Amino acid sequence: MNENAAVRLHTDDGVAIITIDNPPVNTIDSKVRSGLKDRLEELESLDDVRALLLRCNGKTFCSGADIAEFHGPPKEAEYRKLFNRIEDLPIPAVCAMHGTVLGGGLELALVCHYRVAAPGTRCGFPEVTLGIIPGGGGTQRMPRLIGVAQTLDLILGARPVDVEQCVELGFVDAILGGEFGEAALGYARRLAETGGVPRRSGSIAVDPATAAPENIEHFTALARKRYPNRRAPFTAIEAVNAAVELPLSEGLLLEDKLVNEAKKTVESRAAVHIFFAERECRRVPGLPKDTASRSIERAAIIGAGTMGGGIAICFSNAGIPVTVLDIRKDALERGLCVVRDTLESRVKRGRMSAEDKENRMSLIRGTIDYNDLADADIFVEAAVEKMDLKKEIFARLDRLAKPGAVLATNTSTLDIGELANATNRPEDVIGMHFFSPANVMPLLEVVRTKVTSPCTIRTVMDLTRPLRKTPVLSSVCYGFIGNRMMEGYAREAERMVLEGATPRQVDTALENWGMSMGILSVFDMAGVDVGVHVHRGNAAHYPPDPTYYQADVALFDAGRLGQKAGKGYYRYEPADRTRHDDPQALEILRAKAEELGVEQRDHSEAEIVERCLYPLMNEGFRVLEEGIALRAGDIDVVWTSGYGFPRYRGGPMFYADTIGLNTLLEGLHKYRDIFGPMHWEPAELLVRLVEENQTLTEWTAKRAISL
Ligand code: NAD
Repeated sequence: MNENAAVRLHTDDGVAIITIDNPPVNTIDSKVRSGLKDRLEELESLDDVRALLLRCNGKTFCSGADIAEFHGPPKEAEYRKLFNRIEDLPIPAVCAMHGTVLGGGLELALVCHYRVAAPGTRCGFPEVTLGIIPGGGGTQRMPRLIGVAQTLDLILGARPVDVEQCVELGFVDAILGGEFGEAALGYARRLAETGGVPRRSGSIAVDPATAAPENIEHFTALARKRYPNRRAPFTAIEAVNAAVELPLSEGLLLEDKLVNEAKKTVESRAAVHIFFAERECRRVPGLPKDTASRSIERAAIIGAGTMGGGIAICFSNAGIPVTVLDIRKDALERGLCVVRDTLESRVKRGRMSAEDKENRMSLIRGTIDYNDLADADIFVEAAVEKMDLKKEIFARLDRLAKPGAVLATNTSTLDIGELANATNRPEDVIGMHFFSPANVMPLLEVVRTKVTSPCTIRTVMDLTRPLRKTPVLSSVCYGFIGNRMMEGYAREAERMVLEGATPRQVDTALENWGMSMGILSVFDMAGVDVGVHVHRGNAAHYPPDPTYYQADVALFDAGRLGQKAGKGYYRYEPADRTRHDDPQALEILRAKAEELGVEQRDHSEAEIVERCLYPLMNEGFRVLEEGIALRAGDIDVVWTSGYGFPRYRGGPMFYADTIGLNTLLEGLHKYRDIFGPMHWEPAELLVRLVEENQTLTEWTAKRAISL
């Protein structure tokens, strides 16, 4: 019956079985909805069926609605009709869940009258992280099953919970071991044979005690704390709370109205933008279609320091054997010890089993002999940031590596083209710019030179899947995409503390706006000396501004190197990262300001945010117009996955469109009038788009991009 469809129906001895088969994750898209509708029609015409089993093929039950439909015409009415039709069936409907049952998938399960699950199944409502609320009945049916408080806990938690917890909460009836398909069919058959009846959520009243005012206050406070600057969590509270009073049919209409309002918010559009940008950034336009990826069976890392160790963990996590080389035995041993400690701390925190840790460690070997690296398919150089030294390493790798091996560098600031020229195979040389800690941060800037071959690019882009990294392709320029844009952002933060703002004032303004950590706290964490060394090493590139990055120089000269020294922009107690305001730091900054003749001024929170973010976005336009980044969305991915930019604001380029490009341009002009043109000239592309009255999104959509 109806082969080749995304939804199939067959019967087995009085039980109708509807199977959804929409790889890879059984997304509920229009195909699945129309398939379900057709199969329900067929089912209704059968008269010897006493139960329905709804199941999915593949690795998971439906893992959600189709996000691509979010901003098209509303689909809620269609969902409602379809889901009501399942709930209204005169025979008991059993949902067999496995894998990750999320969002619309969970809502589909809720319209069935019984829910059984395979061991290891996880269920959740991630909607608020996409700026919306469950819109397929979840806010109305779930509280009928488990109460208002527990439903809000799930929705505001936004993470999938284990099936054992689902049983405890009361919306999963049984976890079935053995062959799951057989077991679920057996469950449905027993229901049919024992006269099981439909259990419709509409006939269940919500326990009003679960919606006691103190519960609602608790979740409102939680939403305020966990989701600052966002609306969706509060909308969810309103919708779920309404289930106490409203009959199901009316509650569903309210939910429909609220979810469609939520979809129009910036936070929702931003989250959807980032969701797709993270997929799009893997696509490299212009790479010949037949570009094959080389197989990576073994890796080698040069340098067992902070980055080398973290990168080694990434490879071992991916199951790729990796040899780490350092110049000295003691440095190597120290590096491997840190790797072991890092993995051990994961075991201690229950994130990894002791056996997994040993397996990972067994894939990591150390050496001080280059000959041990000869069979590597990829080399990642992560030695200290010195051009001569790196060139020497690359020349050596050129002599050693087998033909076709990828020669990658983790440099943050050096010209990779120059490094490539130290080899006789510049086409195999590429940047792999990991972020610290390399085993944690998702972002990887993949940096191509003018001569990096398509095959090398493809190989590294493909390798990011097993390495579990989000790759963004960048061309070579100072700082690549992220650090180049950081220049103006951090420059203004430092400048403002010379103008009399306190470090806390600057950091708090940025954090209130949504950055995960204020930039001065970031400096304290990374080490004030790190920034000073980078700036000193690159002084030749810097503009003739005597106040340029001078706050960190002042602190550095006073021995305030950040958290590791117990003092930097803030003061710290031993082994404690809590920031304490420190009058001594303020004095040092004030003295520096006086020495440099920096005029003092008052800073509103709005000014702090604008002065940091406007240069950041402005530089993003330059990065785009120079072709350093392929797409505005790529820049947004860099900042949301590498620099703590809030996803709900969509990344700096999406944010530029949100506030309006003319607002950004006027803002740059405003600060240019106050501080002079040196740092505040608007990017040509920005000026052009404002003149043409185009948004960045419109410009991006029209632009053909290629390598
Ligand atoms: P690190 O000082 O922690 O480690 C460098 C390691 O390289 C040391 O163990 C050192 O002994 C070793 N080394 C020195 N000379 C060597 C040689 N000739 N051959 C082999 N090993 C040698 O430095 P790090 O922070 O890990 O940085 C490494 C690279 O990664 C630098 O290029 C840096 O710019 C880049 N990077 C650093 C970060 C970061 O946040 N730390 C982020 C991105 C990129």
